[in-house]
Amino acid sequence: MLKKTLLSIALLINLPLNALELKGNLIQGGMVTGSIPKAQSVKLNGQAIKLGKQGLFVFGFGRDAKLSHELSWTDNKGSTHTQSFIITKRDYKIDKIEGVAKKYVSPPKSVLARTKKEAQEVRNARSVLSNRVDFLEPVYRPATGRISGVYGSQRYFNGTPKRPHFGLDIANKTGTQVYSPLPGKVVFANSDLYYSGGTLIIDHGFGITSTYIHLSEVTAKLGQEIKTGDKIAKIGATGRVTGPHLDWRLNWQQVRLDPELVMNHLSASKFTNK
Ligand SMILES: [Zn+2]
Repeated sequence: MLKKTLLSIALLINLPLNALELKGNLIQGGMVTGSIPKAQSVKLNGQAIKLGKQGLFVFGFGRDAKLSHELSWTDNKGSTHTQSFIITKRDYKIDKIEGVAKKYVSPPKSVLARTKKEAQEVRNARSVLSNRVDFLEPVYRPATGRISGVYGSQRYFNGTPKRPHFGLDIANKTGTQVYSPLPGKVVFANSDLYYSGGTLIIDHGFGITSTYIHLSEVTAKLGQEIKTGDKIAKIGATGRVTGPHLDWRLNWQQVRLDPELVMNHLSASKFTNK
């Protein structure tokens, strides 16, 4: 069972001299949190990443991320340390989807300006780098339903190869309640984007955001503070879909992560009586 194995991978490196600790999934699509108590700055592969109190940081790996990485940091005495590590490669599924409306497979020129503008707005929302630390909280499943799509799959719409799928799809009927899987603050809410329909983005801090798309209703409001289990939206079939489902995504700024890897609670039933 690949899924079970992935979920159980948790890595802990304790280096007595440097006190580096990493937790999470060292795998393509994985999110990793860490801390280096005395660090003054931290870089992943030479790029500075956000550093919080007690040397807290988070990063993640995209679908096709290279396998070897290097973390480096400067301590309070000005010395630089480096730690190399390797992440696990994944194989992705091929998904052939038929019956997608033509206007989504080859969009008319007239919608180009709209889709470009919407893509930029979504990028901006995913670029927030707040001091929130919600990403350290347990993550619950946001809705009940059948898992109908997974992270990373290569998609063909009506036979035409398209970008890979980055979300976890949960299929259920239109109007099914969507609950917030973890705390955060709403940074984007729009009921009608061309490709993603009703779209909600929640900031969890340090560049980690989660995205909910194809919604029939976006009930959470821009700027709203969200607690775990809050009602945020309803499942729908808006945008480029062939049926009603929630497409739930996790991002580290523009890097697409696999929400299934961070989900520690596999049932949404905790919320259904609220
Ligand atoms: Zn999807």
